[in-house]
Amino acid sequence: MSLDYWRNIEGTYPFQAENENDMLKLKEGHNPVNLSTLEKQLIGIRRHLHQYPELSKEEFKTTDFIKKCLAEKGIQIRPTSLKTGVFADIAGESEGPSIALRAVIDALPIEEKTGLPYASKHKGIMHACGHDFHTAALLGAAFLLKENQDSLKGKIRLLFQPAEESGAGAAKVIEDGQLDSIDAVIGLHNKPDIPVGTIGLKTGPLMAAVDRFKVEIQGKGAHAALPHNGFDPIVGASQLIVALQTIVSRNINPLNSAIVTVGKINGGSTWNVIPDTVAIEGTVRTFDSEVRNQVKQRFLAVAAQISSAFSLKANVKWQSGPPPLCNDEAITELVRDAAHKARLQVIDPDPSTAGEDFAYYLEHIPGSFAFFGTGGDHDWHHPAFTIDETAIIKASYFLYESARRLLDSSMQE
Ligand SMILES: [Zn+2]
Ligand SMILES: [Zn+2]
Repeated sequence: MSLDYWRNIEGTYPFQAENENDMLKLKEGHNPVNLSTLEKQLIGIRRHLHQYPELSKEEFKTTDFIKKCLAEKGIQIRPTSLKTGVFADIAGESEGPSIALRAVIDALPIEEKTGLPYASKHKGIMHACGHDFHTAALLGAAFLLKENQDSLKGKIRLLFQPAEESGAGAAKVIEDGQLDSIDAVIGLHNKPDIPVGTIGLKTGPLMAAVDRFKVEIQGKGAHAALPHNGFDPIVGASQLIVALQTIVSRNINPLNSAIVTVGKINGGSTWNVIPDTVAIEGTVRTFDSEVRNQVKQRFLAVAAQISSAFSLKANVKWQSGPPPLCNDEAITELVRDAAHKARLQVIDPDPSTAGEDFAYYLEHIPGSFAFFGTGGDHDWHHPAFTIDETAIIKASYFLYESARRLLDSSMQE
């Protein structure tokens, strides 16, 4: 196999889809794989996905497209009860471990402002988190694995997971049994602030646990000029917001970290009336399950006691999102070897305070999640977010190599 793909891509590609039914012809009949041809195909696939993004749980055309790409290569698609998402297996001839490779496929409700010739054709929807990149990269890895199927010592399961942005996808995939009998899972997320050719790998916590809260503070409305006739929820909410900030500054061990952010406050309708209720909403981010629980317990106590001090009642709705994403040490070391083999520069990344539902998989089986350098001037979820397409084939090769390393390891015992 030629590994000479570290050059910059030049020229244009004949694979830009004109409409959403355009299919890319993936059959080549070449073995070994021509990586230069593959790279062009993957860029075409990514551009197609980029033009037709779909929101969480609505990835119907994306699902069909992925299935067709896999079917054209003769890759076996697994049954699923999920309406969107694609799961497939590539089994080698000899026995060995089962390794899952995971990508996410959904897009965001954002109006694209990249000015790219292959910008989104779905108004108000955009692949602004690079999940088109993830999907194309995993398809590339799948094609490489399929071409080398005979020599695989074990089985690869491909997880094209829906609904990452809504936070619900990974749990559904697990419920659907797609992780059953899988020994380990590998995933990655593009990272705009890491240059192409570089990968961030870290043992332990890499991404935060995400909790969401809403507090409704119930008081008693009154005329603004007669405050003694009511219980003012605006004054109570103000005290509560300030008091919540002391959870991080006064309760959490300063050597640990946590975030408590109130992002929304709603209350009152005019200048001369004290309202009945005020609602605040926000998020908590932590990197450790114990700290996570400690923040929640303090939050509930502070909300109840501050409210009570002002004769108010606090009704707290707590919604737990993904747990902290913690990478397994042994698997991360194998993945590190794979990254070196793929000629990537490995860095020790700063953990991200964003969350990832990949963390749910890691609650069940060990694995490793990487930050993959894709360059770019804008962060995730920005309307001008882009990725450098030369990273796609690198990510495919990295996933391929990681899967092989894990199959060749004795991790099944
Ligand atoms: Zn995102
Ligand atoms: Zn994302």
